[in-house]
Amino acid sequence: MTSQWSLVSPSTALYQNFKSLSPESTFSPSSSLPQIVFQLKTIGKERSVVIQVMENDLNLVLSSVSAISDEEAAARAAAVSADSGAPTIFDKIISKEIPSTIVYEDEAVLAFRDISPQAPVHVLVIPKLRDVLTELGKAEKRHEEILGRLLYAAKIVAEKEGIIDGFRVVVNSGPSACQSVYHLHLHVLGGRQMKWPPG
Ligand code: AMP
Repeated sequence: MTSQWSLVSPSTALYQNFKSLSPESTFSPSSSLPQIVFQLKTIGKERSVVIQVMENDLNLVLSSVSAISDEEAAARAAAVSADSGAPTIFDKIISKEIPSTIVYEDEAVLAFRDISPQAPVHVLVIPKLRDVLTELGKAEKRHEEILGRLLYAAKIVAEKEGIIDGFRVVVNSGPSACQSVYHLHLHVLGGRQMKWPPG
């Protein structure tokens, strides 16, 4: 059963975001907080959207939006609060308040499976300390070590996942690259033939 979005959340901010993301859509929640999976029904298309909401503050705009009908609008919405210092969904994954499937972990890096995989293997590699690294475009000289560690961790993940013969590492930085979570992360993708150029 679908319901109108105004019934789903008391949060005006959230409602505004939904509206701006997909004004023609209706949706129905199919799981409970902190992660809600909505089935979006747009004309001619039906897609899932994963929207994560911080339990304590529904007015905190979406932490993450995946596979929506307008990724660019979602990226722009996420970018609005990028530098606010507000926690992202990845902070809760690091603190293990939100479950994730961890593939690799050391004192500086965490690697876990993407909730919306774009390939048979899709793992995210993140620094445990975000610092100002909301996106790669904010990196400073002093981040050289952690950037190297992240890349090396991507290689370890590829090995562990059995895709060392061919894999892709992607970093989306900023709204023009459709970044949706503002905590630097590497996507490690593999297990199928990758195409070029990427979209
Ligand atoms: P990007 O669009 O480059 O910012 O990538 C963010 C990625 O985070 C997307 O591929 C999402 O599917 C993924 N993601 C968001 N929330 C979670 C989560 N709770 N667990 C695993 N992956 C997530």
